[in-house]
Amino acid sequence: MKQTLKPEHPKFAFFGGEIIPINEAKIDIRTNALQYGTAVFEGIRSYWTENEKKNYIFRMEDHYKRFFDSCKIMMINIKYSINELCDITKDLLKKEGYKEDSYIRPYAYNSGLNIGPKLINNNQDIFIYTIPLGEYLNLSKPIKVCISSWMRVPDNCIPPRAKVAGSYANAALQKTEALLGGYEEAVTLSSDGQHISEGSAMNIFMVKNENLITPPAYNDILEGITRNTLFEIINNELNLNIIERQIDRTELYTADELFFCGTGAQVSPIGSIDGRTVGDGKMGKLTKKIQNIYFDIVKNKIKKYSHWCTEV
Ligand code: PMP
Repeated sequence: MKQTLKPEHPKFAFFGGEIIPINEAKIDIRTNALQYGTAVFEGIRSYWTENEKKNYIFRMEDHYKRFFDSCKIMMINIKYSINELCDITKDLLKKEGYKEDSYIRPYAYNSGLNIGPKLINNNQDIFIYTIPLGEYLNLSKPIKVCISSWMRVPDNCIPPRAKVAGSYANAALQKTEALLGGYEEAVTLSSDGQHISEGSAMNIFMVKNENLITPPAYNDILEGITRNTLFEIINNELNLNIIERQIDRTELYTADELFFCGTGAQVSPIGSIDGRTVGDGKMGKLTKKIQNIYFDIVKNKIKKYSHWCTEV
């Protein structure tokens, strides 16, 4: 999926403790995080509703909770509380005034200028910016994916449960290999080399005999907030079982349906894997149902889930 940069956006960033014009938000080339990837980040979506003419940020607090967990793992201290970050994020979006779906990128990093990769005795800082963002992966036409020859980083290498900037070099190798091979996305194997982990920046679900199966946390996944949202949809709205268990590579070849999920990816159907068609190659029935409910929830159309949607 091609993303086009809109040069008029964003206009602002939260940087150095205040909201300033994005062109003034600059970092030094010696910045430790730029040299060594010693930073953590989040990706949050805000949805524009045509009927209400409002923006709703989806599960913002949960994203900031994970942000703090990532910071804890990487020993980054944030001077702000979750509530303060939520308020700053709302202010930023208000100032941008988007009338379309957008994406929020909070980033906490080692801003010191000394040479050497380490997590202590370093200055630390945070910035936030937002961009307009439509589809990241195709939502209607099932995509072609392959198993990557690059495996996912294990917990005692770069912890995948934290969104560490440096570990996205691993994701970039996976995604690039897939694109060069004529695929749209990669599925990675966990560090045991034997089991399915996730996509380059999204979790994966398999449907087999009406069971929804997804890899467990110990297969080196980021425990996605979308994955968790889908657990609620599958349990509460569809009354179906979720099974968190290890998945073998060839189980994907005979799945009834496969789909990715993530803040960027949303709910994206997979049409083939390693050249094997999934089901009849069209979007699966359950995938479609889950996708529909997901979009109703993020656009605040189901009151039961309104607490997840923050009006801007
Ligand atoms: N795995 C990885 C590696 C990711 O980068 C993402 C995107 N944050 C996900 C899974 C999905 O997580 P979430 O649903 O919280 O966006």
